Parts: sequence; C-alpha cells; structure tokens
Amino acid sequence: MKYKLAYQDIRNEVAKLCKKFPSAYWQKCDREMKYPTEFVRVLTEAGYLSALIPEKYGGLSLPISAGAAILEEINRSGGNAGACHAQMYTMGTILRHGSTEQKARYLPGIASGALRLQAFGVTEPSSGSDTSSLKCFARKEGSKYIINGQKIWTSRAEHSDLLLLLVRTTPREEVKKKTLGLSAFLVDMRDVIGRSLTVRPIRTMMNHSATELFFDEMPVAAANRIGEEGEGFKYILSGLNAERILISAESIGDAKWFIQKASSYAKERVVFNRPIGQNQGIQFPISRAYAQMRSAELMLIEAMRVFESGDNAGEEANLSKLLSAEAQLAAGDACLQTFGGFGFAEEYDVERKYRESRLYQVAPVPTNLILSFIAEHVLEMPRSY
Ligand SMILES: Cc1cc2nc3c(=O)[nH]c(=O)nc-3n(C[C@H](O)[C@H](O)[C@H](O)COP(=O)(O)OP(=O)(O)OC[C@H]3O[C@@H](n4cnc5c(N)ncnc54)[C@H](O)[C@@H]3O)c2cc1C
Repeated sequence: MKYKLAYQDIRNEVAKLCKKFPSAYWQKCDREMKYPTEFVRVLTEAGYLSALIPEKYGGLSLPISAGAAILEEINRSGGNAGACHAQMYTMGTILRHGSTEQKARYLPGIASGALRLQAFGVTEPSSGSDTSSLKCFARKEGSKYIINGQKIWTSRAEHSDLLLLLVRTTPREEVKKKTLGLSAFLVDMRDVIGRSLTVRPIRTMMNHSATELFFDEMPVAAANRIGEEGEGFKYILSGLNAERILISAESIGDAKWFIQKASSYAKERVVFNRPIGQNQGIQFPISRAYAQMRSAELMLIEAMRVFESGDNAGEEANLSKLLSAEAQLAAGDACLQTFGGFGFAEEYDVERKYRESRLYQVAPVPTNLILSFIAEHVLEMPRSY
C-alpha cells in the first residue's frame, strides 16, 4: 500500500497519536465494554474532532476529505473511530440548519470539546428502518415542548452532553407526506437525565456504547428546536451523506489494517515447511480484498469530490458506503482465515476488528436500504416501501 493519498501530514500526526493507544488499550476497553475516554480526550485536545467546524466557531475549517483522513487513520492504526466520529459530524445539522443564536451558543463548545454532541436519537424499537413511522412525540406547551416516547440504539448517550433528537410534532395521519410533521431538537441531557430522561445501556457484540432512551414528560425549550417545526426529517437527511462518507473512510481504514495484518502474518507463519502465504489459497482472498478496498477507496474519493463541490453526493456517498463496508468485511474474513485459530484469540485484535466491521452492514444504514436507494433514486425503479 505505497500509493499517495491526500493529507499525508495529518495522517502521520494522527498515526503518531494513535501509537500512544496500543492494542492492549483497545482490548481492555472491548473486554470491559468501556468507553475509550482517554483516547477521545487526546484526540479532542489535538483539535481533530473540530475538523469540520468553521474557524469562526473555533474549529479547523477543513473539508470532509480531511475529516475522512483522520477517521481512516484511526482505524488503520488499530483503533476504533466509532467512539468519536459523531463529535465530528453530528454538529453539521446545527451548522446547516440552526439559528445564528444556536450556532453561537453551541458550536464553540463543541469545537473545544467542552460540549460533547455525540448522541443522535432517531431509531425506535417499533419503527426500525422506517423512520417516518417513529412514535416519539413532542407536544407544544407555551415556550417549550414536552417529549414522551422511547429511542433505541442511541450510541454514546452516556458520553454526550447533547442529544440530536428526531420526534413527531404532528401525528402521521394529519400530514400530507409521511416525512413531514417530524421535528429535530437539540436536547441538553444534563438538564433532564435521571428525571424525565432515563438512559439504559445495551450490551452488544462489539464495544459501541449503545443505549436505549426513555422520555417521560421531558421538557425541551422551543428555542432548542432546529429549523422549522415539521421539517426535521429534511434536516437529518441532509447530514447523512457526510456520515456515509466518513464511515466509509473508517471501513477503508479497517480494510487496510486487515490486509496489512493478513499479508504480514502470511509471510511469517510457516506450516508444512513453508510460509502459508506461498499458498495461493491464502494469497487470493487477500489479493481480492485488496482489489475491493482499492476500488471502494476510489468511490470514496469520488464521493468526497462531489460533496466538496457542493453538488448532491447522494449516489456517490451511498455507493461508497456500500462498497467500503463490503471491502472491510471481505478483508476481515480473509484476515481471520489467514490467522487460523490465532485469529480467534483476543491478543491479535483480528476477532475484535471483525466484530466491529460486521456492524457496518446494519448501521448507520442497512445494506438493503442502500440498495433500495440505488434502485429507486439512481435507476428509477418503482419504490419498494
Ligand atoms: C451498535 C449500533 C449502534 C447504533 N447507533 C445508532 C444511533 O446512534 N442512533 C440511531 O438513531 N440509530 C442507531 N442504530 C440503529 C441502526 O441505525 C438501525 O439498527 C438500523 O437503521 C436498522 O434498523 P433496525 O435495527 O430496526 O432493523 P429493521 O428495520 O428491523 O430491519 C431488519 C432487517 O430487515 C431489513 N429490511 C427492513 N426493511 C427492508 C426493506 N424494505 N427492504 C429490504 N430489507 C429491509 C434491514 O435491512 C435489516 O437487515 C444503531 C444500531 C446498532 C446495532
């Protein structure tokens, strides 16, 4: 993997920082299902999580391709950017759709890390992928809204001060289009946690700080509604291309880690008096994964180009997410197979990375829904749902 990539200087600096958090650190976090607080603190202090925030709010004002380089490098170095990626991009909804007052109030704190905005509550147990049928409801009472309902799979709620929340403000039966009548709120969880907001952790296959949230008459100031009432779906949707691009970069980082790990081990491990990497049965899956990773990476570069040009990158961001998650999994599978039994041992990190990789077939968007998007919006076939 000797080809040149953009932001090599940033990649080198991030790699240096990641070196301070070796395998043993990530293994311990994984084993204890512990949030990598120290890693996230160091990354925040170095300013990397403010990459996409404009300078006037204290951020680095960098384009999305720089953000992608940072997240890719974390995963390529053996870490898991999933613990901190949301602090980089969730603020995009405020930046694009928030009022001048909301931007001035929240963005500087998010840029410095004094305010953590890394919880995003959309999914509910009964609605799942069908976001427009979500049931959490906010009723207006004077200068505030009162929210009732439940969210599930809200990552990092225990490690966030703010929550970007999508709820109904008009019942689905009363709106012309099912995606209308939803509103986005920025909830300061510090004001309500343990009272009208209950946060319950969910133990999962990988260490992802997932939780469920229960709202019981939770008050939120109307001033914390983002944009127009009833238009929240549109605001949330506008952030999804950035999320898909950045998570694609993490998948590429993981794919590179697996490929490097597998090819090195294949050269060293001797069985039947020769390195296992001399057998084509071992070489070919790794070579194929490399080909998949390189083509996915090209699609990622194209998605970033379109995004940075200001055009709608919907098609490219979805293709990039699909291909990079597949390349990541193919590389993970080849790596696990190359390591044989040792791949299942915690100390080699392969099984941990493999578990982490499997998530990206389901979240933040399931593969099937990306394929549906391509069928409907790119190939103009009939809508399936
Ligand atoms: C670890 C983790 C972290 C997460 N973090 C967050 C978070 O921070 N915030 C948040 O809001 N959500 C989060 N999610 C939720 C995630 O976005 C959802 O799991 C995902 O959107 C799918 O919803 P679901 O799990 O209800 O699956 P379902 O909607 O029940 O779907 C189940 C399966 O059926 C398939 N399916 C459903 N409908 C169709 C269809 N029409 N055509 C073809 N296939 C279909 C899906 O692709 C999927 O494979 C997280 C999930 C996990 C596991």
